[in-house]
Amino acid sequence: MSRKMLIKPFASIEAAALAPHSWRRRQVLRAGASTLVLALAGPKLAHASSVLGVRVWPARDYTRVTIESDQPLQNANQLLQGPDRLVVDLSGIDLDQALRDLVSKIAPNDPQIQSVRIGQYQPHVVRMVFDLKGSVKPQVFTLGPIGSYKYRLVFDLYPAVAPDPLMDLLAQTERKQEALDRANPNPAVPPPATLSGPATAQKPGTPDSTDEFFQKYAQGDAPAETAPKPSVKPQRAPTPPPVIAKKDDDDQYTFSAPKQAGTTRLLTVAIDPGHGGEDPGAIGGQGTYEKHIALDIAKKLRAKIDAQPNMRAMMTRDADFFVPLNVRVQKAQRVSADLFVSIHADAFTSPDARGSSVFALSEHGASSAAARWMAAKENASDQVGGINVKSQDASVNRALFDMSTTAQIRDSMRYGSFVLNEIGGINKLHKGSVEQAGFAVLKAPDIPSILVETAFISNPDEEARLNDDAYRDKMANAIMKGIKRYFAANPPLAKSRMT
Ligand SMILES: [Zn+2]
Repeated sequence: MSRKMLIKPFASIEAAALAPHSWRRRQVLRAGASTLVLALAGPKLAHASSVLGVRVWPARDYTRVTIESDQPLQNANQLLQGPDRLVVDLSGIDLDQALRDLVSKIAPNDPQIQSVRIGQYQPHVVRMVFDLKGSVKPQVFTLGPIGSYKYRLVFDLYPAVAPDPLMDLLAQTERKQEALDRANPNPAVPPPATLSGPATAQKPGTPDSTDEFFQKYAQGDAPAETAPKPSVKPQRAPTPPPVIAKKDDDDQYTFSAPKQAGTTRLLTVAIDPGHGGEDPGAIGGQGTYEKHIALDIAKKLRAKIDAQPNMRAMMTRDADFFVPLNVRVQKAQRVSADLFVSIHADAFTSPDARGSSVFALSEHGASSAAARWMAAKENASDQVGGINVKSQDASVNRALFDMSTTAQIRDSMRYGSFVLNEIGGINKLHKGSVEQAGFAVLKAPDIPSILVETAFISNPDEEARLNDDAYRDKMANAIMKGIKRYFAANPPLAKSRMT
């Protein structure tokens, strides 16, 4: 095969016309039986960067545009007003079909971008103009090769006014809170000593002491399990709050903690679907993406939580976009979540690995080599998903990650045990106990936090299960039951109203 034949199908017309004879060095990579990819290198050929992919991840939080290339792309950008637009000049590159495709990749409902215009501005300089729907705060940064990605140039377009998870949640659950207030007009009836013993845990009209919830107290583990934790939540009321427990038709317990004297608050669960956007997570042999599985189970869990009269869910992401690990933690803290659950379906080096796992944070090293390996893999999400390490937020929030407490870990282990127990009813367990390792996403110092590996996507049988809607529903159900059991055994403390 002659050189000409090799080059012809892949080089853009412009590039071929501009410098056909200056291509001194070519690398031909075999990327498949019939596919050849040309990569051009050499100092005189700097303009010949190839675009390998253009991706757009629209979301309310921010819209990301990624341009992936075989060499780092030089860029200059300028934010202009009247109308709002971001002008970007990419140098060392010629307009090709991959870049042109960006135009059609902007969805009409993109929260930030109205449209994009693209053209060959000068020789080897491509100009892109993002017409914006409003004022944005762009972050433009580059990422080096990692995983299957080559060089990425990233445009994160944040709305000037960021959506606030707390305000969103309050708006969504205002009526529910009112209904709960009406249902519990005066929950402060039991004396404050409620949590110190079994007898006082009852209030008029509550189920008798044969109920599991009250048996817990009678078994004498109540003081340790339910005592207030000033070291964890020092800003909250020092007096143990009264707790109301009711048994419904479904043989499930409902319980609620007072918000302030005389009112009852909704219990908030932060649900964190792992990965997203540029970070696909693990990919199964049949092409199943962990990020999609995680999001679906999370949505199912959200629906179950929101169906409870006394609970509400906040999702760290509810679409296919990347959320940095510390932002996931911040969102949970912003809504003062009572619990945090991160949902995953990871791969292992061996396709034989199977079974579900539940992880909590560890204070002194991982509980096993596999747990350490898994935490390292999950923590790499920020590199694959791509964070701007130079941004102020990143450095400010790194400090947060060193504030984990023993109390949080102790509560997370209890919470994890309840969830693991329920998951054991629907899938084989990878290990019979909650494992521990340094997962960055579990580091909210004041929120019991667990990470559930719902199954191994790398195991063909388990990948098939993960693709089964009924299994995903069972998984969401098991997590839900574990959460309810944890709340019943460890009633959350009173929190001040969040508004
Ligand atoms: Zn994962």
